[in-house]
Amino acid sequence: MRKTFNFSAGPAMLPEEVLQQASQELLDYRGSGQSVMEMSHRSSVYNDIFQETKTNLKKLVNIPDNYEIIFTPGGASALFGMIAQNLMPKKSADYIITGNFSKKAAQEAKKFGYINIVASSEDKNFTYIPDVSKIQFNETADYVHICENNTIFGTKFKQLPNTNGIPLIADMSSCYLSEPIDVTQYGMIYGGVQKNIGPAGVGLSIINKDIIPIEISDNVPTMNRFDTYIDNDSMYNTPPTYTIYMCGLVFKWLLDQGGLSAIQQKNIKKAQLLYDYIDQSALFSNPVNKNDRSLMNVPFVTGDPQLDKKFIKEASDHHLVNLAGHRLVGGMRASIYNAMPFAGVQALVDFMEKFERENR
Ligand code: PMP
Repeated sequence: MRKTFNFSAGPAMLPEEVLQQASQELLDYRGSGQSVMEMSHRSSVYNDIFQETKTNLKKLVNIPDNYEIIFTPGGASALFGMIAQNLMPKKSADYIITGNFSKKAAQEAKKFGYINIVASSEDKNFTYIPDVSKIQFNETADYVHICENNTIFGTKFKQLPNTNGIPLIADMSSCYLSEPIDVTQYGMIYGGVQKNIGPAGVGLSIINKDIIPIEISDNVPTMNRFDTYIDNDSMYNTPPTYTIYMCGLVFKWLLDQGGLSAIQQKNIKKAQLLYDYIDQSALFSNPVNKNDRSLMNVPFVTGDPQLDKKFIKEASDHHLVNLAGHRLVGGMRASIYNAMPFAGVQALVDFMEKFERENR
């Protein structure tokens, strides 16, 4: 057992069992005489890894046949622009702005069409999610974009907007596979894998084929076209083979944990332990509207930046690492993704109690 608990927002902690398995298979993958890193992506041994990875994801999320799974380079940020290049034939889309990443997604999309900001929570520094029942969507919008879990600010959509049939596209980078997902509610879900799924380097999308227009401008580079990935099973060029293999180990681990409902129950328990402690604490507070709190990213502050710094330093001395908040908000943030065990959150709460006693 490793004794450090890593609260990084991403790249983030991976399940210990997965890292053990990867280390056992590192030099010689199951008698093949090769490391997965050394294999041709077109070899039958790698093809088996790749197909099993997709099959296990399909099982986990219950993905219907009209949805495609694609792995793309460049993480979520590359997809911000690709979404607009591929899915905006009428050159218009609606964006809900709930943080830094939804802003960036909208900025990229603006390069390719007219972007309507239909709601925003910037007025209160993104500490809440706008009431989705009050949002008016534009009938001509090609899609509606949300960032479902806001990594920096610690908010999460608990209810999806009713978009009246306009495809909903969700950036799930920081809540991917943390709870059951009904993909039929979305035209597309996507995210960088480096928080809940695997090492950095890949964007994972699950996309309804019906929302991809038949004609896409010839000006869109081949590597930016979703049909390139769909038609070539994400292997038009050499994909990040090792990262995809690691994602596959995590999918298998999630199935062994009992699937997404089981992991959701664990995530609720972990988050509740931390929020309950913060809510009764005289020292620490969480700025987020209670109904909109994320189960994955929990920001908190003491109210005194010097004391926050002391907390982060002393926590690190106690093997609780990467607790500094994002530079945009300061303070602390505990990212408690699927791979964070309950014992890690318990250790954090125990340390917060001790710190509070000593610094009141
Ligand atoms: N969306 C969200 C919600 C994120 O948290 C991040 C990264 N922290 C991104 C997008 C950008 O992801 P990437 O670094 O994979 O491009």
